[in-house]
Amino acid sequence: MPTIDHCPGCPYREFGPAVGPRGNPASRIVLVGEAPGKNEIEAGRPFVGPAGHVLAEALAEAGISEANLFITNAVACMPHPVHPWVKAIDACRGRLVLDIEAHPRAVVVALGLTAVRAVTGGRGFRMMDSHGVELATVWGPVVPTLHPARVLRRPTERPMLVADLKHARRLTGI
Ligand code: URA
Repeated sequence: MPTIDHCPGCPYREFGPAVGPRGNPASRIVLVGEAPGKNEIEAGRPFVGPAGHVLAEALAEAGISEANLFITNAVACMPHPVHPWVKAIDACRGRLVLDIEAHPRAVVVALGLTAVRAVTGGRGFRMMDSHGVELATVWGPVVPTLHPARVLRRPTERPMLVADLKHARRLTGI
């Protein structure tokens, strides 16, 4: 499934249209989330709901402007709950790779374990032990960090997300 034009034929899509990325195509930071929720499917844009507000505030605190961002997801739709997530991640990975490869000089930030898994292919990553420590990939450094929805539930973890975003910004030199 190289682009979201192919999503209607995908067996893992639950309902509604898939949600494409948003942001500056020339940006130096690519954020990868998990999958759109209902708010995002309605708006047709990633990270516009409550987790999106947490993300926007953390980005502002980290000194990253929208102009320096491109935001996509590991999975472009809300997958049907009867299907295992890993199948949806694999089915959607070609599209994610295209989004990442469109930004050859960017630092990728993986928001949460699903994004880490989708971007690196690795399993068993322990977020609380290793967030903020960049992972080497064929696309350059990937900074794993907490998903904003987790920070929404556990606000005391917000400084970790902000620190990791700052680290990603420093890696880009912006
Ligand atoms: N959570 C995500 O991972 N992605 C979105 O686009 C919205 C919420």
